[in-house]
Amino acid sequence: MSSIRRCRILVSASAVACVVACLSGAAPRAQAPGRLALVGGMLITGYEVPPIHHAAVVIEGPRIVAAGPASEVKVPADATLIDTSGRVMLPGLIETHGHLVVLGHGSYETWFPWIASHGGDAMLTRVMEISAKQLLMAGVTTTIDLGAPLAQSLSIRDRINRGEIVGSRMLVSGPWIARLGAAGAGGAMQVGFGGLNISTSAEAARETERLAAAGVDHIKAHSGLTLDDYKAIVDAAHARRIKVYAHVYAEQDVRHALEAGVDVLQHVGSAGTAPPYSKELITDIVNAGRPVVVTAAHRAWVYPDTAEFPERLQDPELKKAFGADIYAEVQRSLASWWTLGYFQRTDREMLYRERGVKQFIESGAVMGMGTDSGTPMNFHSEALWREIKVHVDMGMTPMRAIAAATRVNAQIIGKGRELGSIEPGKIADLIVVNGNPLFDITALSHVDLVVKDGLVYKGAVAAAVRPPTASRGK
Ligand SMILES: [Zn+2]
Ligand SMILES: [Zn+2]
Repeated sequence: MSSIRRCRILVSASAVACVVACLSGAAPRAQAPGRLALVGGMLITGYEVPPIHHAAVVIEGPRIVAAGPASEVKVPADATLIDTSGRVMLPGLIETHGHLVVLGHGSYETWFPWIASHGGDAMLTRVMEISAKQLLMAGVTTTIDLGAPLAQSLSIRDRINRGEIVGSRMLVSGPWIARLGAAGAGGAMQVGFGGLNISTSAEAARETERLAAAGVDHIKAHSGLTLDDYKAIVDAAHARRIKVYAHVYAEQDVRHALEAGVDVLQHVGSAGTAPPYSKELITDIVNAGRPVVVTAAHRAWVYPDTAEFPERLQDPELKKAFGADIYAEVQRSLASWWTLGYFQRTDREMLYRERGVKQFIESGAVMGMGTDSGTPMNFHSEALWREIKVHVDMGMTPMRAIAAATRVNAQIIGKGRELGSIEPGKIADLIVVNGNPLFDITALSHVDLVVKDGLVYKGAVAAAVRPPTASRGK
């Protein structure tokens, strides 16, 4: 009798009850360490090596304890078995640039006032919960949020970690830090994302310390900062052992962030930073080993993709995720989406979009994967696979793109020891997709099953796992 067959027969009733409870939509609660085995499918580990065929992954409690060819992995007799045959297992995806306070609405100028007039903080909390759940259901098991009010950011992160609500594991910046009066650092956007305006470098350091003391996971340095501002923020953050992500487009801003020691350069090469950066800057970024996250797809690809298929805006999944009121407001905001202020420079961005991404792919830069998820028409349910697809279309191999969105992203965010790959000892975050992403990367849009911290949040486990009586005699 094969080990798989034995498992099916001996699967424990309590394990089944737990997994099914988690799937029923009820908030997952702490559970006695259960054993889970995902068996049969192809395994992409997160490393850039050939996949393992007909593989098995064994999970005990929140951790992976074994992974390899099913013929070699010993599946414990009491494990709950999930049949992944014909599909592909890979690490849970990591989003290195998301925004829970937005979920695809067309305009910050009307979205944040709409929240204020429809429940205020209660609505903001609901929006953030919806965003976090959408991310998780899209296979994004960890998300870096880069701009939201402080109290709500910490609260949603902690409630997800305690299992009170279902969502992607959040690491949060709280408000971003920007220079008073800088372009892009004012108005509805700044207010809605909880942005802080500073006017001296000393003030930047004080705000960084205040945020760190409040418990944020990292700092987002936004627009218009000087070299001294970046240095002050980086010094204060690193003294607290947290990372700094910079929102930078123009060559001079990127140069300053690089020289000040900012940990991750966000947006570089996207959004009309035309012409592409100088060879010298690219070389310096590569030599420094400084990670870049291009956020390429939003605007420059999302806009023409929507022109081709505007029906994507009425994806039934959005209606289900949002509820009638939010869905109606988002639809209203996107009725004439091609006229939105957010896309006013998109023609110029499209002109340079390919060179903007290729300059980093071809240079050998350390590339993470992040999307500005939640920005206009950039829905949490699909932003990351769209971003990954752009990188593949621009010349990144599918395997490298998947590694970027998993193992490399985990390293970039400082969680390389715990997250990002499927191997013994790592936290059990993994997904199962229908289709081979190494052949067609958009298979990542078909997420059948999501496991986070060893708990199943999405998937047809109830059908795959049969109670002992059902399989007796087979
Ligand atoms: Zn940004
Ligand atoms: Zn952003």
